[in-house]
Amino acid sequence: MRALTWHGTNDVRVDTHPDPEIINPRDAIIKITSTAICGSDLHLYDGVIPGLKSGDILGHEFMGEVVETGTRSTLQKGQRVVVPFTISCGQCFHCRKQQFSACDNGNPVEKQDASEMLYGHPMGGAFGYTHLTGGYAGGQAEYVRVPFSDVGPIVIPDGMEDDEVLFLSDILPTGWMAAENAQIEPGDTVAVWGAGPVGLFAVQSAKLMGAEQIICIDHHPNRLALAQKFGAKIINFEETHVREALMEMTGGIGPDAVIDAVGMEAHGFSPDNVLDVIKQKIAPGADRGHALRQALLACRKGGRVSVPGVYGGMLDKWPLGAMMEKGLQIRSGQTHVQKYTADLLARIQEGEIDTTFLISHRLSLEDAPTGYKNFRDQQNEWIKVVLKPGGVA
Ligand SMILES: [Zn+2]
Ligand SMILES: [Zn+2]
Repeated sequence: MRALTWHGTNDVRVDTHPDPEIINPRDAIIKITSTAICGSDLHLYDGVIPGLKSGDILGHEFMGEVVETGTRSTLQKGQRVVVPFTISCGQCFHCRKQQFSACDNGNPVEKQDASEMLYGHPMGGAFGYTHLTGGYAGGQAEYVRVPFSDVGPIVIPDGMEDDEVLFLSDILPTGWMAAENAQIEPGDTVAVWGAGPVGLFAVQSAKLMGAEQIICIDHHPNRLALAQKFGAKIINFEETHVREALMEMTGGIGPDAVIDAVGMEAHGFSPDNVLDVIKQKIAPGADRGHALRQALLACRKGGRVSVPGVYGGMLDKWPLGAMMEKGLQIRSGQTHVQKYTADLLARIQEGEIDTTFLISHRLSLEDAPTGYKNFRDQQNEWIKVVLKPGGVA
């Protein structure tokens, strides 16, 4: 089969690989019909997350048709499914608490040492996202093996297009959980850093959860325009002093909740970020946390901080004093995708959530390297890239 593989920083290629096979009775093999490039894939592309090996297949946002099933899979050949990026057993201590991204069994034991050393506990498993999360082949390919296929994949009803439901694999539940972690109360002002795909879904979700005022912060005009379309007020951080603007828009109090949907590759020419950029070039695994620092300082006293943006390593210049003295509550985490898919599928069907607005480019799998490059370099125009291994219709 053909698959998009990582060969080093800013070097991804489409190569030929052996087709995946069933190796566990709970597995299924999916023929991929649609797969997206994620903002977090750009962290891999840029080489700022450790743990990839040359030839690893990337991709954790995908869907397709079931073509083979193990004896204990609950799926049937011919079904269309969206697959959560989190690989979760459904039975362990964490899965029983619906903390699927913390699953103890998704990440094979022999792969757990590095992440246990970094984080104190081994990470859960995920598709196409380094050997820290299990070294699983990803879904930017013609076929993929899906472990625990009796737990994760959600069957898509006939009549729904791939483009409507593909984002159930990651970014829609991630935006939703980000808003949920912000513990929004009716009447709240919620500020969202990053008008990327996750930020835009966080905006939609915050509105559904009753936020009165949503303010989105970015520097790409096209992305800000999308946030505006969903009712957010916008701040371009290249033109406006963010904290002063937020104070003005909240009567001098500050936002009730802040969401950092930017993560470890924040932009901006502030002293903290210039230092972070240098450090990250020297040491993979160092984070650039400018957006998060700004969010912590802007949040009102007693407010809530939600961090869906990906961080992988160590961050310094952390405003711990602001967190403590202002009494901020912080929630974060990789998304517990399986917890949200059924509810969000229903909301898409009912027209409550719009998903297709996001897709700016549809490419064949062979064009994936171009997709990575442009998604990274032209963020104003390339908002979300969907690859179609069967060809672009
Ligand atoms: Zn993703
Ligand atoms: Zn589990």
